[in-house]
Amino acid sequence: NKQVVLKHFVVGAPKETDMEFREGKTSLKILKGAEGAILVKNLYLSCDPYMRGRMREYYESYIPPFQPGKPIEGFGVAKVIDSTNSNFSVGDYIVGLTGWEEYSTIIMTEQLRKIEILDVPLSYHVGLLGMPGFTAYVGFNEICSPKKGDYVFVSAASGAVGQLVGQLAKLHGCYVVGSAGSTQKVELLKNKLGFDDAFNYKEETDLAAALKRHFPEGIDIYFDNVGGSMLDAALLNMRVHGRVAVCGMVSQHAVSDTKSISNLYTLVMKRVRMQGFIQSDYLHLFPQFLQTMVNLYKEGKIVYIEDMTEGLESGPAAFVGLFSGKNVGKQVVHVADE
Ligand code: NDP
Repeated sequence: NKQVVLKHFVVGAPKETDMEFREGKTSLKILKGAEGAILVKNLYLSCDPYMRGRMREYYESYIPPFQPGKPIEGFGVAKVIDSTNSNFSVGDYIVGLTGWEEYSTIIMTEQLRKIEILDVPLSYHVGLLGMPGFTAYVGFNEICSPKKGDYVFVSAASGAVGQLVGQLAKLHGCYVVGSAGSTQKVELLKNKLGFDDAFNYKEETDLAAALKRHFPEGIDIYFDNVGGSMLDAALLNMRVHGRVAVCGMVSQHAVSDTKSISNLYTLVMKRVRMQGFIQSDYLHLFPQFLQTMVNLYKEGKIVYIEDMTEGLESGPAAFVGLFSGKNVGKQVVHVADE
């Protein structure tokens, strides 16, 4: 059972050398005493920026840190190959937290979901129809108070969450501009994902001026995936009664963007509402989300871009790549075929 193990707690941006491979024991049967468990073959593993948070020794968070010497874990799609749990049968596909390894025994099955929608690629259940898609859905609908005609700005716009936020905003009748870190991503936003406009933030010397250029009348909704200087620049460009949904601050994991936020006074001047959120507080909306998103996808109203790497061995590099923008779309690792 090949595994990806955390070597030590991480400082700054994660590196491939913070993780290592190990050959663990393989048992294709659930060991005696593990009642209520399932044994799964992992098929797809999701790379998500929040996992960096779990590589820290101690932090106040909604989820505990990884343990050095143990396989890291994350969202994945897997197939049940043995079960002592009456809710899951051999042959079922599940999505939920699993180990970065070929086979995992999962004892805490409460948060696992049996996959019922099988006529889309299985990997979509960790993206479009999984946690990132749900984040886009609740972040936009529940936090942004969107109205038709709103001016919407999305950062890390071609990523897992951003690409869907932009498209949901377009379906809502908003004007949407995205920022991303390469020409290729900007082209995708404009030509494939239906954004009204997009820009490469790495080519801008003055982010506030870039936003002013794209939003001469100001921003109604900023969906913030990155924090740091982009957040500060967006604050300067908010309209009266604008909303800032603070989804994540991926720029703050690396040490490259340490500028502190200096434009918070605009919250008062422009009566802006700025609100952080965590998708898991809204799980009661998950069934509604799943139905809506799968319908939009099947009707061709939502496009979804994945970046798939091959083999468990490719996992650490794929994960680390999130923090320098190597991924084009939702980063997933294909571990095995069914
Ligand atoms: P992405 O697929 O967007 O991947 C991360 C992207 O962030 C990279 O591709 C890169 O794109 C961008 N990035 C990396 N470093 C920087 C930097 N220094 N400055 C600006 N951009 C950077 O990830 P997700 O869509 O999965 O996650 C997006 C955000 O949403 C993250 O902050 C994440 O933590 C958050 N999140 C929050 C949740 C919640 O419940 N609140 C749930 C899920 C995610 P580029 O090339 O454009 O720079």
